[in-house]
Amino acid sequence: MQIGIIALQGDVSEHIDVMKKSLKGTDLVVQIRRAGIVPLCQGLVLPGGESTTISRQLESTGIANEIKMAASAGKPVLATCAGLVLVAKEIEGNSSVKPLELIDIKVGRNIFGPQRNSFEADLDVKGFDKPYKAVFIRAPGIVNAGPDVDILASIGDFAVAARQGNVLCLAFHPELTVDLRFHQLFFKMMRQAKET
Ligand code: GLN
Repeated sequence: MQIGIIALQGDVSEHIDVMKKSLKGTDLVVQIRRAGIVPLCQGLVLPGGESTTISRQLESTGIANEIKMAASAGKPVLATCAGLVLVAKEIEGNSSVKPLELIDIKVGRNIFGPQRNSFEADLDVKGFDKPYKAVFIRAPGIVNAGPDVDILASIGDFAVAARQGNVLCLAFHPELTVDLRFHQLFFKMMRQAKET
């Protein structure tokens, strides 16, 4: 399997390290900075970073369209933090990020406010038998979700982990913790997509 990490800006190397730790020898992780690579990948990762910067570059390189096509063909997408903002259908009060509209959610950027710029939280995650310690950094939150979206975890009024079919999005940073359960879930989605 070949996994493509959108490597325009942000938490790229951390995702690569975690992927390499949990993959089999024959699997490959590639960095995507230009058009033409996404169609060769069986799964895509949109990392955390600055969603306005990443959005601008996704559009100017033509990678945005390729991601949309890959996702609608059923290829699994893991989107974390700024990535969650990018894959949303709608972004609250925002015009500088062009949403890719891969999942039926409305997100608010930096939703936890400046006083909670960064924090950790023990999340109860649907399908996990033990709590998951999540790292939040200027995190977005899901304020609304359509009926086909499965909410996996929430903090107060905001969902922070959600899945709709082949798209898994997280408001926190799974690449910054030793707990690999979300990466393992993503690999499972990739294996299942490959078999069908
Ligand atoms: N607040 C950032 C944004 O909207 C995301 C922060 C992050 O990815 N750590 O782009």
